[in-house]
Amino acid sequence: MRRYNSQADFIKEKYGVRLQKLVVDAGFTCPNRDGSKARGGCTFCDNNAFHPNYSTPDKTITQQLDEGIEFHRGRYRHAGGYLAYFQPYSNTYASLEILRQKYEEALSHPEVRGLVVGTRPDCVDEAKLDYLAQLARNHIVMVEYGIESCYDATLEHINRGHTYAEAVKAVEMTVSRSLPTGAHFILGLPGETREMMLAAAEKINALKIDSIKFHQLQIIKGTKMEVEYASHPERFVQFSLEEYIDFFVDILERLRPDLVIERFAGEVPPRFVNSTPWGLVRNVELIRMLEKRLEERETCQGRLYNREN
Ligand code: SF4
Repeated sequence: MRRYNSQADFIKEKYGVRLQKLVVDAGFTCPNRDGSKARGGCTFCDNNAFHPNYSTPDKTITQQLDEGIEFHRGRYRHAGGYLAYFQPYSNTYASLEILRQKYEEALSHPEVRGLVVGTRPDCVDEAKLDYLAQLARNHIVMVEYGIESCYDATLEHINRGHTYAEAVKAVEMTVSRSLPTGAHFILGLPGETREMMLAAAEKINALKIDSIKFHQLQIIKGTKMEVEYASHPERFVQFSLEEYIDFFVDILERLRPDLVIERFAGEVPPRFVNSTPWGLVRNVELIRMLEKRLEERETCQGRLYNREN
C-alpha cells in the first residue's frame, strides 16, 4: 500500500489494466496566444518543451497514436490499453464540429479506450461538456484543467488570462456531468511563498476535482519567466530536490485523502531549460524518493486534512 493515492494504482483498480496516455497534438491554439484573451501566452509557457517527438500537428491524429503506441511498446510492455491525451495548448478551443472530428478520429483507433482532454477553464461551455458527457457513455473521458495557482494575483502576474473563480466554475460544470476531472498546478510561481503554497491545499480540497497534477516551476528558455527570473530571482522560492520532496510531503498531508495524485514533479528535456538544478532525475526515482520520505516521516496523504477542515 502506498502512503498516497497514486493515479497508476487508481486506474488499475478502476479499469483493471494499466492505461498509457499518448500525447496528441491536434493543432489547437490558445486564447491566451491568439489575441482573444491576450497575446504572448502565460509567462512560463513553451508548449514545445512538453511534446514527445511522435506528437506533432503535421501528422494525423491516427499517425500520432500509431507512433506513440510503437514508442511506448518498447518501454512499457504491460500497458493494457491507451488513452489519447489531447495535451498541448487548449484542446476545447474550437467549434463543436471540429472537436467532434478530432476526438472521434482518436476514439476510432482500435487500441484507444478513451480521451484525456487538457484545456483552460475559460474554454469550455455547456454544449462542449454535454458532448464530452455523451462520449463518456461508451468511452473513458477525462477533463484536465490547467489552473496553475489558487491566487488571482499570481494568475494575473503570469498573464494567465482567467481567474480562480472561473476555474472553480469550470470544474463544477464538469463534475456535474460526472466527468472525471483533474487539475494542474505549479509550485514555485513568482510571488508565492511556501506558506501560500501550503495554504492553497485547503482551496484545492474544496475544488471538486478527482485528480491533481503538480509540477515544480521550471524556467524554460526564451520565456518571459526567464527574463523575470534573471532580474528578480527574489520573487521565486527555489527548492533543492530534497527540499521539494519534503515540502511536497507537507502538501500531501493537507490534501484530502481521496484526491488522486497523478504527478507531483517532472522534468522537461534539458535542452529547454537554462539550468537543471536537480540533475536529471527520472520519474521513477522521484516516486521512490517521495515514498521513502513519507515512510521516514511516518506520515501519509490526508494526515492533517481532518484537523484543518
Ligand atoms: S500554458 Fe496553456 S493557456 Fe498558457 S499560453 Fe500556454 S497553451 Fe496557452
